[in-house]
Amino acid sequence: MAASPIRLGIVGVGKIVRDQHLPAIAKNPRYRLLATASPHSKVDGVPSFPTIEAMLAATKDIDAVSLCQPPQVRYRAARAALEAGKHVFLEKPPGATVSEVEDLKALAAAKGVSLFASWHSRYAPAVEAARTFLAANPARSAAIIWKEDVRRWHPGQAWIWAAGGFGVFDPGINALSIATHILPPFFVADAVLDFPENRDAPVAARVTFDGGLPLSMDLDWLQTGPQTWDIVADTAAGRMVLSSGGAKLAVDGRLVHEEPEAEYPNLYRRFAAIIDSGTSDADVAPLQHVADAFMLGKRQVVAPFFD
Ligand code: NAP
Repeated sequence: MAASPIRLGIVGVGKIVRDQHLPAIAKNPRYRLLATASPHSKVDGVPSFPTIEAMLAATKDIDAVSLCQPPQVRYRAARAALEAGKHVFLEKPPGATVSEVEDLKALAAAKGVSLFASWHSRYAPAVEAARTFLAANPARSAAIIWKEDVRRWHPGQAWIWAAGGFGVFDPGINALSIATHILPPFFVADAVLDFPENRDAPVAARVTFDGGLPLSMDLDWLQTGPQTWDIVADTAAGRMVLSSGGAKLAVDGRLVHEEPEAEYPNLYRRFAAIIDSGTSDADVAPLQHVADAFMLGKRQVVAPFFD
């Protein structure tokens, strides 16, 4: 018997909803998009509301919501949805603080609904191959190098530069979501965060970690030209390079895994699976590392940033 459709509401209709959520939902027959809630933006042909409260009050048969607004305002919406008995898909990062997400996990369990902290980069095509390779060939040392052009990927997004917007850790947490999945446990030992003098979030960061192996992370948001989203590990079987944000895996320069990107279709399949099995999937490890970097990190003031 076919599983019943998941009737979905989306909150926060911005770049990632248009680029990824809407196409993934449209191609997955398990989902029916019933409504959206966003202060200004709408999706053509779908009933829209200015707030999640208005959406839930007017659309009682919603089963689940995807929360895609900036992280600073996600907790209140997640709480409202869980209180109303809805399953919740949280865009990354799952909250502005670790405690918020722990609170949501407890509420989801109490309400008997599913909470999904979606780490989209974990679903990049070569990540499982990297995990399998490192399970057989443990890393001796590793480095995360994540360097991109903020003007290209986050044009005009004021929230990302505000306190709680994560700055360069917005992409950096994607690297950490992969690293926490493929490497042995680690924890922040030392960090330097570069804050533009006119912003409340960092534009670059250098972090070293303690744990089972030497691990460093270099984040930079001002890289123009070719973009770098790599995790490199030295092993007895050679140098592993997981590149392009988890899309390609090479060992000693030889490409061993590459397939088309399908992160968001995979996220929506996973969300349906946890709803069907009555479970939650809300790992806070990547968020904890970012919190620790902000807690331990030395603050360095650098040149102002203008869009
Ligand atoms: P964005 O383009 O700025 O979109 C965010 C949207 O949230 C805005 O369009 C705004 O809607 C809405 N919003 C703001 N305050 C709200 C509130 N109080 N209630 C409901 N909606 C509100 O940002 P984005 O790039 O889509 O990023 C959103 C989240 O997705 C972030 O957590 C980000 O890390 C994550 N993400 C982004 C990407 C990417 O490539 N951009 C990739 C993966 C994950 P209105 O237009 O209606 O004002």
